[in-house]
Amino acid sequence: MLRYTVRAPSKLGRTLATHTATPISAQASRRTWARQEIQNLYDTPLLDLVFRSASVHRQHHDPSKIQLCTLMNIKTGGCTEDCSYCSQSSRYSTPTKASRLVELEPVLEAARKAKENGSTRFCMGAAWRDLAGRKRGFEKILEMVREVRGMGMEVCTTLGMLSPEQARQLKEAGLTAYNHNLDTSREFYPQVITTRSYDERLDTITAVRDAGISVCSGGILGLGESDKDRVGLIWEVSNMPEHPESFPVNALVPIPGTPLEGNEAVKYHILLRTIATARIVLPTTIIRLAAGRNTLAESEQAMCFMAGANAVFTGEQMLTTPCSPWDEDKEMMGRWGLAGMQSFEQVSVARKEGLGHRSGEEVAMLA
Ligand code: SF4
Repeated sequence: MLRYTVRAPSKLGRTLATHTATPISAQASRRTWARQEIQNLYDTPLLDLVFRSASVHRQHHDPSKIQLCTLMNIKTGGCTEDCSYCSQSSRYSTPTKASRLVELEPVLEAARKAKENGSTRFCMGAAWRDLAGRKRGFEKILEMVREVRGMGMEVCTTLGMLSPEQARQLKEAGLTAYNHNLDTSREFYPQVITTRSYDERLDTITAVRDAGISVCSGGILGLGESDKDRVGLIWEVSNMPEHPESFPVNALVPIPGTPLEGNEAVKYHILLRTIATARIVLPTTIIRLAAGRNTLAESEQAMCFMAGANAVFTGEQMLTTPCSPWDEDKEMMGRWGLAGMQSFEQVSVARKEGLGHRSGEEVAMLA
């Protein structure tokens, strides 16, 4: 196995092994965790836990790289589901107004702008339960996927529940990844959502994985869950037949009018502990610091990157919550010696694209 070596900044000129140039494969690094083992890990004194997760991170990823993603809402509000954190549910009286599916050109314009600003993954989200009865809308989305993928970007969508056939069509159109969060533990889930079951979520994830699309599935902190639930979520994800390529960690942004409007913000040490635990249990997965990042101080974000978070959403808006803008993110990354990942830099994602492990430029030339 190759390793990057870096000269130690000492007069002795020692060489330090820092991180692997060829990441260890997901299968080789995977192990089965009992739920109690993950709980024990989660309960480790925080700095020990971060030290350990930072070490695991360096074995499997280039620690100077962060994936920059931009998320666009292509259909806002009016959703029939009752996710108690969501401003887009039609069951709650929130400031979010319902709109129709956007046209192709504004999407392509947003994707171009995202690419120019360094984002290598473009995600499109639609607020609805599923694609049933949306044949024309689905065709439009397939066209969006084809066009954005044609720009050499990774393309992700989050469109609610999917059938195996819909997943297959998305794959054929060039979809890189599909986001479908489990949100929390199986036990706590019914207190958050009642209109679709945990198993229905897992069925969609299975359809996505079986279609050869990378899976993006994580959770939200601050829903009122306990440490046990945060561990339960990580344990559930760790038991999937393949670890998801991406695990987003969201911090609830309470929205006025939703049942969770009065929830307290999740404590920073809980967010950090969750990221560090997920990094150790899911060593090759990209850990995505998602909603709520703009509430963190720069030093807090840096500690999350140290602990193994290696993707962020950047741009103007993240669905219905604020997002850190590109310029601010670029300056912050510069201060901490971080750089953006290229498209398809994650080995498992590149393999699912049939690209082996190629650089972003090589992929763009092939696109
Ligand atoms: S999270 Fe998605 S499925 Fe749930 S209410 Fe919001 S838009 Fe609908």
